[in-house]
Amino acid sequence: MNLGEAKEHLINGLMKEGYLKSPGVVRAFKSVHRETFLPERFRNYAYMDEPLPIGWGQTISAPHMVAIMTELLEPKAKDKVLEIGAGSGYQAAILSKLVKEVWTIEVDSRLAKFAEDNLRAAMVKNVHVLTGDGWMGHKKEAPYDKIIITCATSSLPPPLKKQLKGGGTMLAPVGGYFHQNLIKAEKKGGKLEQRNYGMCVFVPLRRKAD
Ligand code: SAH
Repeated sequence: MNLGEAKEHLINGLMKEGYLKSPGVVRAFKSVHRETFLPERFRNYAYMDEPLPIGWGQTISAPHMVAIMTELLEPKAKDKVLEIGAGSGYQAAILSKLVKEVWTIEVDSRLAKFAEDNLRAAMVKNVHVLTGDGWMGHKKEAPYDKIIITCATSSLPPPLKKQLKGGGTMLAPVGGYFHQNLIKAEKKGGKLEQRNYGMCVFVPLRRKAD
């Protein structure tokens, strides 16, 4: 099986298993090539439904997890989105096809460069990569319609709660080191209404790069 066939097989599988649901998200998965976001030696594994190493101890999430999170975020064409944990840039690239603009923060400047290079190679233009501590968010562009945290956090960061628009949605793996719960929080009347979508495993949010 070549990469193109492997990609089709993976996407069909994700649809059958119910991870990919909406036509827009399916289209985004079809248009973004995951191999563009991987170090060369892992490109042949791009369409296995597994997390893969992207260097400096970090991983690109498994496709089914990107599908779950993208669907839960209910992306809309007018949305301004903030992502915490750019990593490879793949999740941001998927979102870029569905929303107006994405700001993504990466704590490790080497990965921020990796993400930027990958996004450029993928010809994605509406994603802005920032280096810094995502816990603090990015006040300058706030408020955001959606905030997606793609590293494990012990709680929902207060600065991000503030930077979320009224009626907006925040998605985050909340918990400890070994596993977390995928929490979807909706801001209503200044308060966050939370719902748990089950267990997941993400690399931890760090306040500083190693
Ligand atoms: N969304 C990524 C995968 C993220 S892996 C993708 O599609 O490839 C989690 C990333 O979060 C890692 O790159 C890690 O360096 C980063 N990270 C950890 N703590 C952070 C923080 N405080 N602010 C921003 N990024 C952080």
